[in-house]
Amino acid sequence: MTFTVYNSELPETSAFEKNIEGKHTYLFILKNNNGVQAAITNYGGCIVGLQVPDRTGKLIDVVEGLGSIEGCEAAKGSYYGSIIGRFGNRIANGRFTLDNKEYTLVTNDPPNTLHGGSPGFHEVVWDAKQVNLTTLELKYLSKDMEGGFPGNLNVKVTYTLTEDNALKINYEATTDKTTVLNLTSHPYFNLNGANSGSILNHSVQIFADHITPIDSDLIPTGILEPVAGTPFDFNQPAIIGSRVNDDNQQLNYGRGYDHNYVLNKHAYETPVAIAIGDKSGIEMSVFTDEPGMQFYCGNFMQGKNKMKNGNQDDFRTAFAMETQHYPDSPNQSNFPSTVLKPGEVYKTTSEYKFSVVK
Ligand code: BGC
Repeated sequence: MTFTVYNSELPETSAFEKNIEGKHTYLFILKNNNGVQAAITNYGGCIVGLQVPDRTGKLIDVVEGLGSIEGCEAAKGSYYGSIIGRFGNRIANGRFTLDNKEYTLVTNDPPNTLHGGSPGFHEVVWDAKQVNLTTLELKYLSKDMEGGFPGNLNVKVTYTLTEDNALKINYEATTDKTTVLNLTSHPYFNLNGANSGSILNHSVQIFADHITPIDSDLIPTGILEPVAGTPFDFNQPAIIGSRVNDDNQQLNYGRGYDHNYVLNKHAYETPVAIAIGDKSGIEMSVFTDEPGMQFYCGNFMQGKNKMKNGNQDDFRTAFAMETQHYPDSPNQSNFPSTVLKPGEVYKTTSEYKFSVVK
């Protein structure tokens, strides 16, 4: 079977060279022996392109991303491909209490803080070192009280393109004061190729018996809700579009799927989610040691951002699977803790692995 492939070229590296407040930005290209390539900039650590083979062996760019640093800067509020920190997803009312002290964050998604508030890790220039053809190391020192979070936080994010066609992301961090931390990555995938239209015909499987349901401000209510018998049950593969428009309060609150899945207990080697592009046959398996994953189907995409290759970020033309601790954990005592103390090392790993359906 063949299908129309839109421009699947990775962006020009020269479009990513800039000096931002004394720091240089670049575009790094990782490449494995199968020809799989990832294009990542040290501005926000953004993954702007990822070429993987489809079922005919043709390389398809499966990430919707920006084509230049100026593009990244203009669209930073949509987090295209970025590293997310200090805290993935929402913190209610931009507030939390730690060791009896209340901290106030920037409420960039009123009334809440989204993805670390401001400045977030998606909009800073990281120190970068391409270690070899397949590995990129990014480092950033987030100073005490940056964005309102306590502690000088040293963060290292390592991207590795493996020989089994996975993009692996290792996160490490240490702090000098007790803080909260929830790092993730925000690639927007379209497994039929960036700019190939709606993702609603993709098939998705998520190995999770519960979600953390949200209120109308997209903040978890604190309970774990079974997915059985609801449009949120992806334990068996289902087409995204088959239930996304169901009349369901949770879908209304999220404007579609924008929910944290409580991943079933699993070994790292077992995927937590699998997505398949209906046209390309490209299959993506997600691996993580995190307890949760946000499944977001691009409900806030509005066609307002100018993406690479002249693309536009139209409604639901990409989806994200963000491995994470649960949203608003600092305010939810029954959720797994996101507290990091001096002397501890924060370590977590996730990967997106690509193959084709038979
Ligand atoms: C959130 C969405 C948000 C999006 C922004 C997702 O992680 O869950 O609510 O609109 O990020 O890019």
